[in-house]
Amino acid sequence: MKHILNLKCLICGQTYQVDEIDYICPKHGNEGIVDVQYDYDFIDRHINRNDLLHSTDFSMWRYKPLLPIEPKASLPLLSIGWTPLYRANRLAADLGLKYLWVKDDGRLPTASFKDRASAIAVIKAQEKSAAIITTASTGNAAAALSGICASVKQPNVIFVPETAPQAKIAQLLVFGSTVILVKGTYDDAFELCLQAAKEYGWYNRNTAYNPYMSEGKKTASYEICEQLGWQAPDVIFVSVGDGCIIGGLHKGLKDLMALGWIDHMPRLMGVQAEGSAYMFQAWQSGEDILTKPPIDAHTVADSISAGLPRDRLKALAAVKETKGAYLSVTDEEILTAIPTLARGCGVFAEPAGSAAYAGLVKAVNQGLVSADERVVVLNTGNGLKDIASAMKSVELVGTSPYRIAPTMNDLRSLVAKLRITN
Ligand SMILES: *Cc1c(COP(=O)(O)O)cnc(C)c1O
Ligand SMILES: [Zn+2]
Repeated sequence: MKHILNLKCLICGQTYQVDEIDYICPKHGNEGIVDVQYDYDFIDRHINRNDLLHSTDFSMWRYKPLLPIEPKASLPLLSIGWTPLYRANRLAADLGLKYLWVKDDGRLPTASFKDRASAIAVIKAQEKSAAIITTASTGNAAAALSGICASVKQPNVIFVPETAPQAKIAQLLVFGSTVILVKGTYDDAFELCLQAAKEYGWYNRNTAYNPYMSEGKKTASYEICEQLGWQAPDVIFVSVGDGCIIGGLHKGLKDLMALGWIDHMPRLMGVQAEGSAYMFQAWQSGEDILTKPPIDAHTVADSISAGLPRDRLKALAAVKETKGAYLSVTDEEILTAIPTLARGCGVFAEPAGSAAYAGLVKAVNQGLVSADERVVVLNTGNGLKDIASAMKSVELVGTSPYRIAPTMNDLRSLVAKLRITN
């Protein structure tokens, strides 16, 4: 691929040609995560901001020359990317901010941000004529792989913890994947899947281990900046589990800086659940993330429950290099943020999505964001992914339905009690 220079190991700095290694730098067990390095002069000759002005491709493929795929790659059937960026003025006012946008990736085909990465996985696997693709997942990466595979009839094997929310497991089964429910955590499922991929030669989509996943995820940064007329925001809030999304967002912004399409780097704010706050802890303490042991992860936000964030090198760099911060929010704050976000702008998020908004609330209270800064919150997953948590969230804020007999009498007394008048 002419626009890619090489793959660079984040640990030892060694570079590899694209066809030299499939996933990781072989010198560090399963931890040698690599970064795809581009030839920006080459890219600059093949795409510019003006071309995009005339593009009618409202999907992530509008940025194809910036992605690690061949110009003639056959693309998945489903439409992925170009999700709306809503100006959330009421929420902004509540927080004392002037400019707040919510980008809703719950609108993607399988209802989470992961579609951006899985789309690339399917293309890369087909490049290699892989018979089977596999991934471990807390649920959404699997659902995304499963749906996109279904769209192009690509066989796949999925490993998820048996505790994954029902809606996510339902997606996998409906799309026709081979679904393996692992009696253990996401981290257990991840290890098992890596071994399975090696033993059977399956194409491996696993987050971070597969360096192309960040490359799909970076398209959200392109979209945010383009949707804001190439005036990059000042701050972006996103939740963090494995750290691949925040690493991908950072990569996208670095691409845009290298091409001169934006003139400043937004601060990246990584939001973690208190019970799964490996990155927050490491960022605060300055511990070495190559030796910091896994933590025991527990949170209602299943999509960001990760004992050992697989993309921690990219995730730490994303926050440090942009002078951002890590924040930790409680499960109660995460759940409370579901109705707040939904009622404030109409976006219904799953817990891992609302966590980003809970992080913004905390950051405002801590003075980490100032009133006139331009802020983007990324919703990474649709609220319908996890109804049990949604029901808990409304209970927490004291909202419940009214039950009546189907008579006008009962209704009249209820309406009178509630004082619903014109
Ligand atoms: C995967 C996921 C995240 C976290 O992404 P990481 O790359 O694991 O940090 C956040 N929200 C949702 C809804 C997800 O599915
Ligand atoms: Zn290395």
